[in-house]
Amino acid sequence: MSKKDKVFTVKVRRDFCKGCGLCIEFCKKEVLAASPKLNRMGYNPAEAVNSAACIGCLMCTQMCPDLAIEVYSG
Ligand code: SF4
Ligand code: SF4
Repeated sequence: MSKKDKVFTVKVRRDFCKGCGLCIEFCKKEVLAASPKLNRMGYNPAEAVNSAACIGCLMCTQMCPDLAIEVYSG
């Protein structure tokens, strides 16, 4: 199975996110977008809007200053 055939789940811990947008900007597959709903800290957190497109590159997890994103296989 090639990397592209794998399925990944992308989870943002919304209340840890400060809405900086780095993960959204760096995801080449446009998996992430800003939620219209504010989180508990008053930010628009990132959310996974297209997990099916995720290739598991982990760029988003590396860019997030708040360790708010988890990407795992399956
Ligand atoms: S792992 Fe890569 S493709 Fe998947 S959401 Fe993060 S940056 Fe996008
Ligand atoms: S990089 Fe982290 S803190 Fe910034 S928007 Fe993405 S999940 Fe939120």
